[in-house]
Amino acid sequence: MIDPAHERESRGGLLGTDRIVEPPELPRPAGVAILGATGSIGRQAARVLERHQEYFKAKVLAARSDVAGLAELAARLQPDVAVLTGPPEGGSWMPEAVEARLESVGYRGRLAVGEQALLDELSREDVHVVLNAIVGFSGIRATLAALRAGKRLALANKESLVAGGDLVARALREGGGSVLPVDSEHAGLYQCLRGWNLSEIGAMYLTCSGGPFRGKTTHDLTRVTPEEALSHPTWNMGPKITVDSATLMNKGLEVIEAHRLFGLDYSRIRVVVHPQSVVHAIVAFQDGSSLAHLALPDMENPILFALGYPRRHEDRAGTIDWNSVLDLHFEAPDTGTFRCLALAYEAGRKGGAYPCVLNAANEIAVEAFLERRLSFLGIAAVVEEVLLEDWGAHPSDLDELVEVDSTARAVAGEVVGRIGGREEAKAV
Ligand code: NAD
Ligand code: MG
Repeated sequence: MIDPAHERESRGGLLGTDRIVEPPELPRPAGVAILGATGSIGRQAARVLERHQEYFKAKVLAARSDVAGLAELAARLQPDVAVLTGPPEGGSWMPEAVEARLESVGYRGRLAVGEQALLDELSREDVHVVLNAIVGFSGIRATLAALRAGKRLALANKESLVAGGDLVARALREGGGSVLPVDSEHAGLYQCLRGWNLSEIGAMYLTCSGGPFRGKTTHDLTRVTPEEALSHPTWNMGPKITVDSATLMNKGLEVIEAHRLFGLDYSRIRVVVHPQSVVHAIVAFQDGSSLAHLALPDMENPILFALGYPRRHEDRAGTIDWNSVLDLHFEAPDTGTFRCLALAYEAGRKGGAYPCVLNAANEIAVEAFLERRLSFLGIAAVVEEVLLEDWGAHPSDLDELVEVDSTARAVAGEVVGRIGGREEAKAV
């Protein structure tokens, strides 16, 4: 069943109804919590904080299981609290051992363990901005907790917004927090849209590098290996988003993310392939003018933007050399070959729990692909089959959303077992 609310544009997005609402400025230095600190975005954020100590101070660093990585970062940034949310890699809970490890590298703060401990730390008064760089749906609780606590949420964890958009909007309303996108395309859109009426946009474009398989046919993709999918031409990212970039599911999730943030109808949120990854976003206004956001492909740029807004901090990231001839190429995406993008539009338009199900099925399928239980093309096949069921009911709270997510994962697991078993569906 199509949710009519999703077809209306009047209700606006998370960032504002008529115009983008300005988030409050942060104190100097602003207290920062980095969640997913040991990941690709988390480590880049740590470098941003180290370069801008006058403006930012790490208060909380959190990771799931990489004790060595957390210890190294905690020693460098000296946050008040280091949090490990899950059992250490390959081990069971021995907080004393983790504590000893952190101390041995020179960390002087406190260790907290478990997910609840992390959520509690987010409401500390001296935390002003929460960078959620956890990967996957498991980031949803932190997204909601940060907003309920009234913090600025620098959002990299797009999956939480895709899956739980309505709940995120409610937490934002009730907690009085604010959202700044870290995803480079959305940070670019944000900059193009600042001050303009959202109703005067003709269309917004998210650019897409096309990933490592741009120009390939379905036939070419039958024997793609995880290693091939993991070698992205322009961005160096964690494994899940790298595979998502190869299938174009990442762009599909970003289309839903843009719908949630800016409130535009899906017919006006478009994707354009741009292999150089220099133009990140384009807004085409009704009067025929277009504004674009350009920056070298470097996530430290949007991370600094989301933490430091509205300031433009001087940074080490190179600016574009405008004297050299820029070769900027654009082309339409091939949604026949890269089915995940079309499936994401479909799930977004249907609304209800469909975006949550799309995300859950994709997480299961990507994991199976990386473990060589499913072929590359099998990822879209699994997502498509799971979406065939009726997922129209709107989850009204987190428990219901988690329930839908778990059910969708179970259905996706069955589909993986069935189609992944076929010889041609397995990765070679
Ligand atoms: P990654 O796999 O490199 O890192 C993931 C981090 O999340 C790790 O620190 C891990 O410990 C932590 N984590 C995982 N599950 C957790 C849990 N349940 N609780 C607490 N911590 C948990 O991933 P990444 O590439 O840094 O991506 C992180 C997020 O940012 C994703 O949502 C991704 O889509 C988004 N993003 C990434 C990039 C990029 O360039 N890497 C760009 C745009 C958006
Ligand atoms: Mg992006």
